[in-house]
Amino acid sequence: MPIRPCWVEISTQAFQSNYRYLKSRAPAEVELLAVVKSDAYGHSLALCAPAAVAAGAQWLGVTSVDEAVSARPLCLKSNLLVMSGCFPGQGAAAVEHRLTPVVWEIWQLKELENAARTAGLPARSQPIHIEIDTGMSRQGVSLDGLIELLARLDPVGPIRLDGVMTHLLAADESDGRITREQLQRLDEALECIHAASAVDSLKPRWLSVGSSAALLGGEVHEVVARAKRWGMQPMIRPGLALYGVAPHFLPAEPPGLQEARKALQPVLRWKTKVVGVRKIPAGAVVGYNATFVASEPMLLALLPVGYADGLDRLLGNHFSLLVRGERAPLIGRISMDLAVIDVTGIAGVASGDEVVILGKQGDAVIDAFDHAEATQTIPWEVFTRIGARVPRIAV
Ligand SMILES: *Cc1c(COP(=O)(O)O)cnc(C)c1O
Repeated sequence: MPIRPCWVEISTQAFQSNYRYLKSRAPAEVELLAVVKSDAYGHSLALCAPAAVAAGAQWLGVTSVDEAVSARPLCLKSNLLVMSGCFPGQGAAAVEHRLTPVVWEIWQLKELENAARTAGLPARSQPIHIEIDTGMSRQGVSLDGLIELLARLDPVGPIRLDGVMTHLLAADESDGRITREQLQRLDEALECIHAASAVDSLKPRWLSVGSSAALLGGEVHEVVARAKRWGMQPMIRPGLALYGVAPHFLPAEPPGLQEARKALQPVLRWKTKVVGVRKIPAGAVVGYNATFVASEPMLLALLPVGYADGLDRLLGNHFSLLVRGERAPLIGRISMDLAVIDVTGIAGVASGDEVVILGKQGDAVIDAFDHAEATQTIPWEVFTRIGARVPRIAV
């Protein structure tokens, strides 16, 4: 049966090309963990996880054990970092599916240790990455808590400290002040870990810091230098850039960002089709609450897409979509499952015409920043808000 014509096209080719481009920009020893949390930022985990593996990623990052369990059959040999850790009772699944959970609480450590013992795992075979709170006050262990956490890690038990990670909260701020403070706290944590690392189970292999902004800004060299100093391997965790979007930096863009913007290819196009065209006379009302009243005769096209698909209600009367390579304004309120565009000035629009909501059509482009600016949000939210009912199709 043909689908309701509202769909997302995913170019796994573009995803792979983005991974390889980002890899080529980083020093050779840097491992790029491909962040595929939240259904690969709405781009489909089922399509993007295999693409990441094909592009050479050894590590994939998801948010939860639940997501990792879905990812496991798609990437049997990859390391899967569970970036928001385990929830109570999830230790057994983490062990069974060979996950690498991020840990920052003692109970998380004990949950995993118990599960690994129950499963009969040998010494130091269950990897964890400890997250350090270097300033975000979100996840992560404080410097004080770190000493106790390390003391609770049984050196001959089944858990192995495989990595140390932290998350940068302002890598897109070009003055770098906050990042420098965070890296200082990271240095203190690393000293503390290495003071405790006479035992092998406490010798972490990976130093995992930062996201797309850290990779495209200057921080990657800071991470590499620290990893070298402590005999670790550097890891960066890009998400957004893999999907073809370079973050904005403020107030100034780092060198090479323009080149990155040219090289990165959008992975996603969100499309629909005109399902009806009608003429309305002057004075006709369009949509709920008559927020639009025609001042002259108009030609309207009906689209099977609404806020339940992720088309933000703020876009009604404030944004336009692409049809026949031209911008057609959304008029009236966006409904749950429907929207209306004005095609009065666009010759020949007919049922079946493809409409681009996000992406390229001919020479015209609507990108994730255009949506984000119109809806007062960021590209990450634009992507992840595209409704689960909108099918993702590989092209
Ligand atoms: C989401 C996330 C990333 C990726 O961030 P981008 O800005 O999309 O590159 C990296 N690390 C952690 C811990 C994350 O949660």
